[in-house]
Amino acid sequence: MSKKDIFQKILKKPASVSVEEVARVLEDDSLNEPLFEIANEVRNLYLGKDVYLRGIIEFSNYCRNDCLYCGIRSSNSKVSRYRMSVDEILNTAKFIAENGCGTVVLQSGEDPFYNDEMIAEIVHRIKKLDVAVTLSIGERSFKEYKTWREAGADRYLMRHETADEELYKQVHPADDFNIRKRHLEMLKQLDYEVGTGCIVGLPHQDDLSLAKDILFTYEFDSDMVGIGPFIPHPDTPLGKEKPGSLMKTLKVIALTRLFLPDSNIPATTALGTIDPRGRRLALNCGANVIMPNFTPVSYRPRFTLYPNKVCIFESDAQCGDFRDSIRDLIETAGYKAVESQGFRRRVHENNSRRI
Ligand code: SAH
Repeated sequence: MSKKDIFQKILKKPASVSVEEVARVLEDDSLNEPLFEIANEVRNLYLGKDVYLRGIIEFSNYCRNDCLYCGIRSSNSKVSRYRMSVDEILNTAKFIAENGCGTVVLQSGEDPFYNDEMIAEIVHRIKKLDVAVTLSIGERSFKEYKTWREAGADRYLMRHETADEELYKQVHPADDFNIRKRHLEMLKQLDYEVGTGCIVGLPHQDDLSLAKDILFTYEFDSDMVGIGPFIPHPDTPLGKEKPGSLMKTLKVIALTRLFLPDSNIPATTALGTIDPRGRRLALNCGANVIMPNFTPVSYRPRFTLYPNKVCIFESDAQCGDFRDSIRDLIETAGYKAVESQGFRRRVHENNSRRI
């Protein structure tokens, strides 16, 4: 079998591909160019040149969790904490809808201050703007997930972070990968579109570990997969570690596209942060979503999951039109920003393996 035959195997019989085979592609840099090329072909075939826009509001940086990599972890006493009011959130959502983004993403640390009723009310009122609503607010109860789904929430983003159980424990000492999986299952059961995803380049993570991430997102049949490089934050226990690499992150994105030809994969902000070409390159090797940041500029520098976040200087209501930066990025990469709500367009299993 020639080295490149693995790509056809992934496309035609993904369930038969082993974790070792995926790891071999990840470690072999002579496969990068053909991998990126075929991932781009698959994306163009299944999804065309459309890029979906998801406007994100980071509405609170309070967090009860203590993830070792994250700048807003509860032990980081240097963070200046903020919470946006319901009115501030709604005004920002309105601005997102007026700017041609078909989805509003509500993201925060795990902040129980926003109880089930508050989130339900926010979701209900944003849905009147005729946009899709995505929640990215961490682990909550089944009852809450259900209330919010009934209030109109369409999607839930909860990265699995790493599918390597030991590594999961190392970076979330009080937690367990199986608990994360149970939450993702609950969301699926409630018929949300569910987003998983991982961080690339965590300390002690190897290619086998990343291969597990890719197979996990395939086996879970993720509707969305967010993949970004690890960026060390100086005020965390991992502050002195090495960042994740651009090339490895692109490879994980491209392989994920081969396993999940019709899922939505963002060109992440973290990728744009480690390299100015990052998001454009991601669009060229399988990604089809961009998440422009609409957090009001007064709060934006305080949502520091990691330092130097690229979007800190992207425009918003106070500083003009985001089109100049993000739309330009999409068009110069050869794609088209669309206003659609951007649901996963499932291709039927029978004709889903067309390459
Ligand atoms: N509380 C929500 C949102 C988390 S923030 C939740 O639990 O889902 C969104 C994502 O940022 C996280 O899922 C994590 O993958 C990523 N992230 C956090 N710190 C990071 C870092 N230092 N480098 C790269 N990505 C990071």
